[in-house]
Amino acid sequence: MSTDYKFEGWLGHDSKSVEGNMKWGEFEPKKWSENDVDIKVSHCGVCGSDLHTLKSGWGETPYPCCVGHEIVGKAVKVGSNIKHVKVGDRVGVGAQSDSCGECIDCKNGDQNHCSKTTNTYGDKYKDGSGKSYGGYATYARHPGAFVFQIPEGLDSAEAAPMLCGGVTVYSPLKNNGCGPGKKVGIVGVGGLGHFGVLFAKALGADEVVGISRKATKKDEVLKLGADRYIATDDDKDWSKTNARSLDLIVSTVSSGKMPLDGYLALLKVKGTLIQVGAPDGGELPNINAFTLIGGGIKVGGSAIGSPAEINEMLKLAADKKIHPWIQKRPMKDANATVVDMEAGKARYRYVLCNDE
Ligand code: NAP
Ligand code: ZN
Repeated sequence: MSTDYKFEGWLGHDSKSVEGNMKWGEFEPKKWSENDVDIKVSHCGVCGSDLHTLKSGWGETPYPCCVGHEIVGKAVKVGSNIKHVKVGDRVGVGAQSDSCGECIDCKNGDQNHCSKTTNTYGDKYKDGSGKSYGGYATYARHPGAFVFQIPEGLDSAEAAPMLCGGVTVYSPLKNNGCGPGKKVGIVGVGGLGHFGVLFAKALGADEVVGISRKATKKDEVLKLGADRYIATDDDKDWSKTNARSLDLIVSTVSSGKMPLDGYLALLKVKGTLIQVGAPDGGELPNINAFTLIGGGIKVGGSAIGSPAEINEMLKLAADKKIHPWIQKRPMKDANATVVDMEAGKARYRYVLCNDE
């Protein structure tokens, strides 16, 4: 099958691309296989990971790189081995493009932890079929195993950021017992964090506490559905005042200077903190051993979510009519959008739009 469309997008060529220097250009997608789906991109969310990658914060990025892993659009070409998608369907791709499909983790349904994973952008397919390119683009090509149907009840622009930002908090909330009887804190109410508040409420937690730096976000976070708000820069003695009040915390903060011991002090005895924010260089603050020992608390991590969890989350969002707070921007304004995202201006997720 030949294609009469071009893969073009915003390409980062060096670490300065994060400063608004991506350049529009053509790219060569992975070599087509009958396991793949081509998508005409209508929407792509702007994730914190896009910025880390544009600036090579997690190691040298294989430029040119087209970021964007919260992709929604229309399937325009579907490989003959793909049965769950047909041409014309509204589909999406998150932060993972491929996994080996054969290891114990893939077989257990933990494809997101496969050691041979291929990220949606800035990565290489392990079968040698080329580099992966993201969704700040006209078209995207990805293996069908990581292409998801968008349920009818969900708006495309609202569904896009769920595919990475949403599932990255949905998965650890669900896997660590968020639900009735539990008090849950979400640290860093940004793109991921605002989904954390929405999904913790949707999963039925007794109390959801938004935790960010400034008091200025308080009204918005309460409006999002949080029951309480803690401002770590502005509330005096916030850690002492709220000590031992939460069963579970999900932290989306990606700074090595975050007040981690303070967050951990908010956990009840035997509570759990799951870190999903991924600082440049990967470094977290030191943790005092007595903080862990004294409260019998656990610290863990979580990577995006499995395909099954993505489908489950999309269904929950459609059933419960969950509406993320998004700001649409035309695809042509991707550079300015990335600069605004880096400046912390998103409330709470920018979504680049091709068709609107
Ligand atoms: P975001 O929209 O920028 O949100 C991050 C929030 O963290 C900000 O809103 C900010 O809230 C808070 N923050 C920033 N710097 C801080 C600091 N120095 N101290 C304390 N809080 C700080 O970004 P995002 O898209 O949600 O992504 C967050 C992180 O998750 C990124 O590192 C991203 O790469 C990572 N991520 C991980 C996975 C995974 O699989 N584990 C998947 C997707 C993304 P306030 O300004 O209100 O404090
Ligand atoms: Zn992401």
